[in-house]
Amino acid sequence: MDRRGFTLGAAGLVALSACGAAPRAPLPAAQASAFRTQPNAAYDAWVAAFRGRAASQGIGAATLDAAFRDAGFIPEVVERDRNQAEFNRSLEDYLALVAPEEKIAYGRGAVARRASTLTAIEARYGVPARIIGAVWGVESYFGTRRGEIPVVSATSTLAFDGRRGRFFEANLVEALRILQRGDTTPSQLRGSWAGAMGHTQFIPTTYALHAVDFDGDGRRDVWSDDPGDALASTANFLRENGWRPGLPWGVEVRLPAGFDTRGTGRGNRRSTATWRSLGVAPARGGALPELGDAALLTPSGASGPAFLVSRNFDTILRYNPSENYGLGVGILSDRLAGGGPLVGDFGADATGLRQEQRRALQAGLNRAGFDAGTPDGVIGDRTREAIAAFQRARGLPVTGVPSLELLARF
Ligand code: CA
Repeated sequence: MDRRGFTLGAAGLVALSACGAAPRAPLPAAQASAFRTQPNAAYDAWVAAFRGRAASQGIGAATLDAAFRDAGFIPEVVERDRNQAEFNRSLEDYLALVAPEEKIAYGRGAVARRASTLTAIEARYGVPARIIGAVWGVESYFGTRRGEIPVVSATSTLAFDGRRGRFFEANLVEALRILQRGDTTPSQLRGSWAGAMGHTQFIPTTYALHAVDFDGDGRRDVWSDDPGDALASTANFLRENGWRPGLPWGVEVRLPAGFDTRGTGRGNRRSTATWRSLGVAPARGGALPELGDAALLTPSGASGPAFLVSRNFDTILRYNPSENYGLGVGILSDRLAGGGPLVGDFGADATGLRQEQRRALQAGLNRAGFDAGTPDGVIGDRTREAIAAFQRARGLPVTGVPSLELLARF
């Protein structure tokens, strides 16, 4: 997934792969053990040369020795980098993964437990607690999935691999600066396979520019169980990227009958007053809030949910340029603050099934002994394989594709 203007594939993927199930340890044991270092002579030679480049950028020998004592080449990191999941999910599927109901319920508790910290952060940076909480939720399931892969190993593996070598070498150098300053220790310096760290999954170069020491203990600690520094760092990141205090991210809207949706998209901004005059109104009723220059998004077509978004929506996209990401954060923020589900209807997907029917199909497959995973309504490889296995076992044409006819068998 692209983040902060460059390809990274870090936190969004961690959150996506973690998605529907209840919070648990940052990585399942089997997954964590897959990220072991392996001897690699070419990598060792690369590190030897890198040490010279790092030294010329002010990294001391003691820092390098400590950082690389237990670091190494991790083949699984390269594999992840080469096999990033598709990013063209529908908004409905994306929301099912990053903001399912059980996660919203968990997140309301998590945000309530940190209410005083979030309130203090909001007062200092002008970014609403609900927005910071939503980024926290999307990036690390409210701190429960911060990533367990040593950052020096991950970034050095990818810098050595070279596909995005310069980018990851810059991140490796910043990771070493973190150790040299004493913000954390080599054993605590962990994150995603791509080096995204802590509660809100900053990569080291973003950390260098935007992380803050909110609790004043002299360290910018985004890794510890206490999320204060990480959440304040996110607020600082958003503020420094143009967040305007008091401006909502956007609102779900309903469009008047026959509305011409050709003027949608963030390239076509109009004043809130103009949108009002065109009959665009909040989906839940009431008056359209002042959104400044706003854009209309209809990510699922004219008949699906529609959103009017402000310039602050664009600021959220500085974290991750996917519009689904921005809507995920915005919608989750509203839900964390007590708001209800979307009013708009996503309707049936290309296979003719609605989300609840896709969930019913997955549950039916599971009951019949064909493992479709968590019934989240998102049809992925696992569900397609379960369908194919079911079809094979029943002597049906093997398509692996959901259908109403298939659903009727359960
Ligand atoms: Ca601190």
